[in-house]
Amino acid sequence: MPGIQSDFLQHLQELYNEKSLFLDPAECWTYGYDNSRRHNEPLAVVFPTTHQQIVDTVKLCNNHKVAITPRGSGTGTTGASVPSNNAIVLSTEHMANILTVDPDNRLMVVEPGVTNQAVQNAAAEHGFFWPPDPTSSAICTVGGNLAFNSAGPKAVKYGTPRENTLGLTCVTGAGETLTTGAYTTKSVVGYDLTRLIIGSEGTLAIITQATLKLTPLPESKITLQATYKSVESAAHAVSAIMAQPITPCALEFMDETAISLVKDDAQLNLPSTAKALLMIEVDGDAYGLEEMARKVADSASTDGLIDVSIASTEEQVKTLWKARKALSPSLRKIAPKKINEDVVVPVSHIPNLINGLQALSEQYQIPIVNFGHAGNGNIHVNLLIQAEQLDTAKTCLADVFALVIKLNGSLSGEHGIGLEKRDYIGLELDAVAIGIMKKIKSQFDPENLLNPDKVFPPS
Ligand SMILES: Cc1cc2nc3c(=O)[nH]c(=O)nc-3n(C[C@H](O)[C@H](O)[C@H](O)COP(=O)(O)OP(=O)(O)OC[C@H]3O[C@@H](n4cnc5c(N)ncnc54)[C@H](O)[C@@H]3O)c2cc1C
Repeated sequence: MPGIQSDFLQHLQELYNEKSLFLDPAECWTYGYDNSRRHNEPLAVVFPTTHQQIVDTVKLCNNHKVAITPRGSGTGTTGASVPSNNAIVLSTEHMANILTVDPDNRLMVVEPGVTNQAVQNAAAEHGFFWPPDPTSSAICTVGGNLAFNSAGPKAVKYGTPRENTLGLTCVTGAGETLTTGAYTTKSVVGYDLTRLIIGSEGTLAIITQATLKLTPLPESKITLQATYKSVESAAHAVSAIMAQPITPCALEFMDETAISLVKDDAQLNLPSTAKALLMIEVDGDAYGLEEMARKVADSASTDGLIDVSIASTEEQVKTLWKARKALSPSLRKIAPKKINEDVVVPVSHIPNLINGLQALSEQYQIPIVNFGHAGNGNIHVNLLIQAEQLDTAKTCLADVFALVIKLNGSLSGEHGIGLEKRDYIGLELDAVAIGIMKKIKSQFDPENLLNPDKVFPPS
């Protein structure tokens, strides 16, 4: 081991006790992955328990020019929590406390390693919820949710972490303590650093505390299921639903292959002619909710509708959601490798996106399965490939992104850029925007130590 590295590791051992520092490669190994299935072995893994320990760690890394990759649960799909070369992983696993629940002000202060589910459980005790709800909520952390601006089905009505976070405490790449935002729901003092850090994938600052804005739990919810003869007619229904005044709290889309997977897993009795399915949820006061659901069902009744019905039992709703949540992992049953993108287009362009994807699927002979948060135009596009199709898949993927940009869309709705999409960001961002972003990064992180290889392509 080079002298400079062993000197650094020795100092690290002064900051961390045995239980909160991994140096053994076998222990470090599992912290080299995320859900992108990429891997890179870290130099060490540290498990800080306090903000000050993170300040000290970042300062030490600055002294020794060692990169840091922050990590929540490693469920991200774009390689953003895969350690950079010769980096340490800073895991927030041991910072999982809920510090304050303040129902009077509808907020909660938490440490970054708390899981999304733990936040939901604690909020529910007071009649609230935090709207960001990735389907990985049982395991993913709030730090990861914030760093990716991860959302989920409820974003269509309640927004993403950017709309549901009041302030942050962070450590910059220079080891400074930075507090952003306010303890209030309105504030316009200076630039909005909270929204800047949210979605920055651990490249600007390490979040050590977050003030989350809570929303009262709705009294009641109705789940509708609509099936269509074609993907195009379902896509038109999405536009129609989003253009009327009652915003659903979930509007999820599945194409034919996705339906066949759900059907098997959930034993749903769906018409054999169904080529697309929408799961629509409407929430609010119990009084008048049925009337609201009826209006939404009317707007879902576009040409090509086979059937729209209210899920009749609580059990049916649970099964439908369980199957929807299992969709992404179960795709691995169909092909050994999948490329999973989470592109976004304006909702009125969903039909063009789906038609374009079908054409690409035929052109490249790669099955493409589509499902996701249609109310936001956020479609999870899954290219299912055999080992020998990797090169073809890359060309196909470039065409998928080109199609999305042509439709005025965005490369990622909630999974971020990480390593997987960094070579494509020039399709969406112009040189001026990228130049300004890089200057912002150097203000936060002058030595380029925080997740240095993520988001931007290597120079
Ligand atoms: C089955 C499954 C379903 C999923 N469903 C959804 C979904 O519905 N919606 C969705 O948006 N995503 C979904 N995801 C992706 C993933 O769960 C989310 O992106 C989640 O927010 C990642 O959280 P994490 O704790 O695992 O973060 P990690 O993967 O560990 O890290 C993610 C990013 O956050 C950074 N980071 C972590 N903690 C901090 C911190 N304290 N400060 C600064 N940066 C930090 C990391 O460096 C990295 O860049 C799913 C994943 C799986 C496996």
